[in-house]
Amino acid sequence: MARVLILGGTSEARALAALLVALPGVEPVSSLAGRLAEPARPEGEMRIGGFGGATGLERWLAAQTITAVVDATHPFAATISRSAAVATSALGLPLLVVRRPGWTERDGDDWRRVPSLTAAAQLLTELGSGRSQAERVFLTTGRQDLAPFASLARHWFLIRSIDPPDEPLPARHEVFLARGPFTLDGERALMRQHRIDVLVTKDSGGALTEAKLTAARDLSLPVIVVDRPPALDAPVVETANAAAEWVASVAN
Ligand code: NAP
Repeated sequence: MARVLILGGTSEARALAALLVALPGVEPVSSLAGRLAEPARPEGEMRIGGFGGATGLERWLAAQTITAVVDATHPFAATISRSAAVATSALGLPLLVVRRPGWTERDGDDWRRVPSLTAAAQLLTELGSGRSQAERVFLTTGRQDLAPFASLARHWFLIRSIDPPDEPLPARHEVFLARGPFTLDGERALMRQHRIDVLVTKDSGGALTEAKLTAARDLSLPVIVVDRPPALDAPVVETANAAAEWVASVAN
C-alpha cells in the first residue's frame, strides 16, 4: 500500500483525495493547517495542524511510512511548500506540486501587479485620480494578511474573509464574513453597494473567487494584484486529475 501525503486546504487537494481513495493500492492522508473553524473535509484519512517545520515534517513522513508527497496547498502558502521540498529531498521521496494557474489580465482590465502585500498597501496611498480618490477599498487578501494595511488611516476598507480577521486592522473598516464561490451579480452588487473605488487581491487563481475581477472590469475599477511567491524546484501540475495520474505512476 502506497501512503501518499496530500498537503491540502484547497479545492484541488480535496478533489485529489477523492480520486486517490478510489485508486487501488493507494492510501491518501490529507493534512490541513487548521486555519479555518469549519474546514471542508476531504475524503479518506485526515490530520490537522503544523508539523514543526521541515524537520518535524521529515520525522512525521518517516514515522507514517509515507511514500510520496503532493503539495496541493494555496499558492501563497510558501512556508509549508518549502518544508515539503526540504523534507522530501532529505528522505529521497517524490514530491509533486499542484498549482492552479494564476489569473490573466483581459481587455478592459486595469490591473496593477505588485510583489507583496506591503507594496499593495504602499500603492493604495499613491492611487487616486480626479474621478476617484481610491479611498474605498475592497480587501480580499484573507484574514491573516491585513497588518500591512492597518496604518492606512485615510482609506475605508471592506474586508472579506471566511473567519474573523486577525488584528491589527485599519481604523476605518467593515468586516464581511463569507466563503466562495461568489457570483458575478453578487460581486457587482457588493462593490456598488459599498461604492468601492479599488479592489485588492492576491493572485490566487481559480474559478471560485474569480468573479470579483470580472465585476471590477465591468465597473471600470482598478485592481491591485499581489504576485505569487516564487515557485520552488519541483514538478508542477495544474489539476487534481493530473496529480492522480502522477500518484498512480509513482505508486506502481
Ligand atoms: P504557510 O505560511 O505556508 O504555513 C505556515 C505554517 O502552517 C507552516 O509552516 C505549517 O506549520 C503550517 N501549515 C500550513 N499548511 C499546512 C498543511 N496543509 N498541513 C499542516 N500544516 C500546515 O501557509 P498558511 O499560513 O496556511 O497561509 C499562508 C498564505 O496562504 C496566506 O496568505 C493565506 O491567506 C494563504 N492561504 C489562503 C487560503 C485560501 O483558501 N484562500 C488557504 C490557505 C492559505 P509547521 O511549520 O509547524 O509545519
